[in-house]
Amino acid sequence: MYAGAGRAGSGPVKGTRPVLYDAVLLDRDGTLIEDVPYNGDPEKVRPVPGARAALDRLRAAGLRLAVVTNQSGLARGYFSEEQMRAVHARIEELLGRFDAWLVCPHDDTDGCDCRKPAPGLVHAAARELGTSASRCVLVGDIGRDVAAAMAAGAAGVLVPTPMTRPEEIAAAGWLASDLPATVDEILRRQQAVHAVPGPTGERVGTTLVVRSDSAGDMLVTGPAVRAVAAGAQRVVLLCGPRGRAAADLLPGVDEIIEHPLPWIDPTPAPVDPDAMRTLTARLAAVGADEAVVFTSFHQSALPLALLLRMAGIRRIAAISDDYPGALLDVRHRVPVGVPEPERALSLAAAAGHRLPVGDEPVLRLRQDALPPRPADIGDPGYVVLHPGSDASSRACPPELAARIAEALTAAGHRVLVTGGPDERDVTARVAAAGGTDLGGRTDLPGLAAIVADAGAVVVGNTGPAHLAAAAGVPVVSLFAPTVPFGQWAPYRVPTVRLGDAGAPCRDTRAASCPVPGHPCLSGIDPAEVVEAVRVLAGSGGDGR
Ligand SMILES: [Zn+2]
Repeated sequence: MYAGAGRAGSGPVKGTRPVLYDAVLLDRDGTLIEDVPYNGDPEKVRPVPGARAALDRLRAAGLRLAVVTNQSGLARGYFSEEQMRAVHARIEELLGRFDAWLVCPHDDTDGCDCRKPAPGLVHAAARELGTSASRCVLVGDIGRDVAAAMAAGAAGVLVPTPMTRPEEIAAAGWLASDLPATVDEILRRQQAVHAVPGPTGERVGTTLVVRSDSAGDMLVTGPAVRAVAAGAQRVVLLCGPRGRAAADLLPGVDEIIEHPLPWIDPTPAPVDPDAMRTLTARLAAVGADEAVVFTSFHQSALPLALLLRMAGIRRIAAISDDYPGALLDVRHRVPVGVPEPERALSLAAAAGHRLPVGDEPVLRLRQDALPPRPADIGDPGYVVLHPGSDASSRACPPELAARIAEALTAAGHRVLVTGGPDERDVTARVAAAGGTDLGGRTDLPGLAAIVADAGAVVVGNTGPAHLAAAAGVPVVSLFAPTVPFGQWAPYRVPTVRLGDAGAPCRDTRAASCPVPGHPCLSGIDPAEVVEAVRVLAGSGGDGR
């Protein structure tokens, strides 16, 4: 590939505050300038509306800019490198200077690792700019752009044009209407995780943080819990039974209270007044100075806020679109589509807490809470295939999982099939087609330890995807679109998304698939999974 002329900045300075993004990577044709196929003529360069002002706002915010572009016209001889450089000079004349230019000169038949959707250009751009792919956001107009970003572990924004295919729009986790709107949202998200300093700037004594629901929900709240922990002397976490094992893995938690919340659980027990009184008394005994209540976008923080008020907690922060009256002191609101970890971080920020120097907005686990990896599963670098999920709508159909196991094994991978004690039938069936059956052999920490040494994890939208993200292990995400991908995708880790993003279960939040045949996932070709694992092999292990 052609790289720019070494104009990169000096990279993130050690000891600086964590940020979401250091750099914005931009596709060229159809994103920065109007798409003129195989253009070698500077006179035909036409920026998209508002591009110059939008890019200047990114520059003013201290973000570095790179262009990442497929130019197969070079391989095909439609224009020369010299003509291309003239086009790029004209683009800089109109749009201002870019810190790096990364060009793939190959076409699809070359099998290079830089032509998008491969992640090579994104990694190269991050290197040129002295940062990591996870601190980059890429803006493009087709599915290849977003796929390249995700495969590198960067964020990807799709700004569709009339040429963008509907399935590419359906699959995008982050959509924007045009380049200026994209820039607004990048800057808004960047700003949202920066805390507003409190009146004194002093650490509070005890903060009660709350995250009910399942393991995955707890894991994605981890960065926000660390942010709170940085600003509090003691952190007490209230969780439900289904999130307890994950809560035990979160750094920054000093004490855990476990209690189900009937307004959060998907199959709730009736509200028991005595149990609520007991919980309220227990919360009062914490003696918290403040509470930060984390929820998913479809859950309400208000019933618990009332109990917290009755427990005497004076300062309560939560996200609430519903009118909270006197129940909240910090009422935070977040647009739809923001990744859950960032959504939670932005609430922590609104409550006055932010990640400390040296931390990063990524998922992390307490390493001292993980057991050693079992000796009998071989060296690191295997592929973990986790077919199950608490919600069957998000599980991989067993028949497909078996074919995936078979295809991965045939491609030379060592496959470990994982699942809970109640999933042993499925894991045995899948492993019989290829791989080692670890069904029922792991609790959550044990699974986390195995996932941490994997080369890749093949999994639906369920807890182990977030364990992989916490270990920096690439994910082949068999993502049932029952909830938005942009909110629940494995966070800041190399990912390939597979499955039909436009299937009828989309946005239904269904726990069991409402459509006969589970079509969102059953149409996945095992060869796609093998190819995804190959693509991700170049993106693994950022040493988290
Ligand atoms: Zn290439």
